[in-house]
Amino acid sequence: MFRAMLVEKDADGAILAGVREISEDRLPEGDVVVAVEYSTLNYKDGLCLGGQGGLVRTYPHVPGIDFAGTVEKSEDIRFAPGDKVVLTGWRVGEVHWGGYAQKARVKGDWLVPLPEGLTTRQAMAVGTAGLTAMLAIMALEEHGLAPGDDPVLVTGAAGGVGSVATAILSRLGHRVAAVTGRPETAKYLNDLGATQIVPRAELADPSKKMLESEIWAGCVDSVAGAMLGRVLKQMKYASSVATVGLAGGAMLEGALITPFILRGVNLLGIDSVMCPYETRHRAWSRVARDLPMEKLDKMIQGATLADLPALGADILKGRVKGRVVVDVN
Ligand code: NDP
Repeated sequence: MFRAMLVEKDADGAILAGVREISEDRLPEGDVVVAVEYSTLNYKDGLCLGGQGGLVRTYPHVPGIDFAGTVEKSEDIRFAPGDKVVLTGWRVGEVHWGGYAQKARVKGDWLVPLPEGLTTRQAMAVGTAGLTAMLAIMALEEHGLAPGDDPVLVTGAAGGVGSVATAILSRLGHRVAAVTGRPETAKYLNDLGATQIVPRAELADPSKKMLESEIWAGCVDSVAGAMLGRVLKQMKYASSVATVGLAGGAMLEGALITPFILRGVNLLGIDSVMCPYETRHRAWSRVARDLPMEKLDKMIQGATLADLPALGADILKGRVKGRVVVDVN
């Protein structure tokens, strides 16, 4: 038997989430059994815990879109008992049972070895949100971003993706402008390396102008909505926005084509879920190299399985700061 956060649907369609004892034979099919040590909380976990967004199709369900732990049994020759591994994406925690449990059975294809230099706890402090921030920065670099005088904008900066993006960009020598709707997080963001705080309200209004003054050398955007439409008009010539999330809405509001055709601005889509093995392996290596661990420590709040329903509701309201690390044991 092992403990897990089980999400169930009752006869009236209400979603109920609670910690339950589960027998190992209920684990889904897979070729590697992992003794999970840590998981984390991402925006998507908030949706899955509350039965929102249509992500979970079958109940009962164990959420948790990422985890880190130790291989217990393996039918995959790439993994042996005792190996430390990390899983993010592949719709684990949505379609497949996920990391909010002491055990998980998954496909070996979905696992990566724990990056050298990281503990399982640090890997989950990074988690899907942090890995995605790294993928976004790599995409910006591939499109010409290099350290310079012009600031790189990070939206939703006090959230998970935003916090990690801020710390990594700062470490790489960029000036970082952090957009936040929570002024009380200014010191936190400065400590992560932000050199400028931009109040969310300044970018919330979709301007009717065709273009605005060129300000940003790049942007990691986890908000979308009206903010993304506005930011595009302020991008420097031939710069890029890496679009990661939709915390502010799924539409690209007030966007005009002018930044693309008059300034050669690029809008780069970032997906961490189906991202190929080679790219995610490279991204994890970059995280281990470019994310200062003392800054990661400043982002972390600890949690247990029992805390998750409340934290899931909080992250959907934009109330979680930085990264939550869930000790499943
Ligand atoms: P968080 O909730 O931790 O961060 C989102 C941040 O966005 C909040 O902290 C808040 O920052 C800001 N925000 C929230 N609501 C609004 C709003 N209405 N208007 C403007 N800003 C808002 O979530 P994550 O960092 O985990 O994820 C961020 C987004 O990225 C989500 O949409 C998520 O689904 C997506 N994502 C996508 C991935 C991919 O593979 N493409 C992978 C991981 C995440 P502040 O308080 O500082 O303003």
